[in-house]
Amino acid sequence: MEAIAAISTPLGYGGIGIIRISGKDTFKIIEKIFEPKNKENKEIKGYNMKYGKILDSNGKNIDEVLVTYFISPKSFTTENMCEINSHGGPVIVKRILEICIENGARLAEPGEFTKLAFINGRIDLAQAEAIIDMINSKTEKERQASMNQLEGNLSKKINEIQEDIMQKMVDIEASIDYPEYDIEEITKNQLREMLEKVDIKLKEIENNFDTGKLIRDGLKMAIIGRPNAGKSSLLNSILNEDRAIVTEYEGTTRDIIEEFIVIEGIPIKVIDTAGIRNETEDKIEEIGIEKAKEIAKNADLVIHIIDSSKKLEKEDIELLGLLRDKKSIIILNKQDLNQEISEETKEIKQTGKPIIKLSALKKEGIEQLYKKISEMFNLGEINVDDSVTISNERHKEVIKNAQKNVKESLHSIDKNIPVDIIQISIKQILDELGKITGRTVSEDIINEIFKKFCLGK
Ligand code: GDP
Repeated sequence: MEAIAAISTPLGYGGIGIIRISGKDTFKIIEKIFEPKNKENKEIKGYNMKYGKILDSNGKNIDEVLVTYFISPKSFTTENMCEINSHGGPVIVKRILEICIENGARLAEPGEFTKLAFINGRIDLAQAEAIIDMINSKTEKERQASMNQLEGNLSKKINEIQEDIMQKMVDIEASIDYPEYDIEEITKNQLREMLEKVDIKLKEIENNFDTGKLIRDGLKMAIIGRPNAGKSSLLNSILNEDRAIVTEYEGTTRDIIEEFIVIEGIPIKVIDTAGIRNETEDKIEEIGIEKAKEIAKNADLVIHIIDSSKKLEKEDIELLGLLRDKKSIIILNKQDLNQEISEETKEIKQTGKPIIKLSALKKEGIEQLYKKISEMFNLGEINVDDSVTISNERHKEVIKNAQKNVKESLHSIDKNIPVDIIQISIKQILDELGKITGRTVSEDIINEIFKKFCLGK
């Protein structure tokens, strides 16, 4: 039998669970394990559902299901496919998968359905990667950006650039066949003009990377302050109010627990809470100045929280020193108590950093903190329109290499190197860009990409 099968819904308790099968022999397997209510109706129609029972090898009823049929090439993988909608319990879906395997299907590898869609040419590599990003989206903006890529916006841009290059190469081939006087000079000028245009287009894509990365990875925020300043209280009040997503999926790209707040659609990750939070007491451990330095170093934003009901101590002042070269905000906490220090306190004022007064305990003033963060990073201005936003490190690498190839080719023109040698260097730009859409990518990279998918996708 030639077919793969996997459970496509998360293994938990829910209304419906879906088992997917794809391959030449899909319908043969379904015929063996599925008894439609209307037994007379043997016709298989694409995009159609049949109601009936899944039976085991002894003819015992396992579950009542709906089976959807997809006829090649009109399916996700372009092969014949079925989706079995069963009741959504882990025991049920696992049993049905087992029965599919007993009847000749092979267990699909992670991402294998999407890999087939790519190999069979239904989507390109950038679109396949967009599917992982869609599934892993933490925010609406990230979903939008992934959707743009899934719709092929990045691929379109890349293909356009490749077309420009190829068109010029074809023109040149033609003129080499019919050599005229001074053809080298004319050709080189044309190539230079084309390469300069390509360079601008690549720059446009590259410029979007920072925005893309911000949408996808967000900002890392560290909270520092001396013991009892209110770090845990602040963290708890922001996370309790805005705990956006806690991801905990085994075997997916994110198998660690991450906590985010979302400000203006951008995820803000509180840095390394695992490292600094005392698990048992759910309290941030006392951290020395060295550790604080290290944490601050990895942060895009440092929040220094100070207990303003007490006088400043040496340690506070030391910590203030860490803020110098960092985007940071000073919080004067415990505004509900009598105040010993204010924004006018010399050591605080002279940092020149924005100051927010709040009470972490009473949860008063947290909104101001959010507003300040948004202002500092212009988060309100980050929009996902139809333009290409790249956030994928692999794509960035490709764009950078292609830019390097463009520079080298231009350099060769300046150095008066013969056209046929310049052509080889231009061909490298094409090959490099082809790695994004998958035209020229190696088997290893493809396997690496699809390994990141979940089972059943
Ligand atoms: P950490 O050591 O920096 O994590 O500080 P905690 O968050 O554990 O707070 C130390 C103590 O200060 C706790 O008893 C908190 O309840 C208290 N605290 C924190 N924020 C405030 C506040 O805004 N007002 C008042 N009155 N107490 C606070």
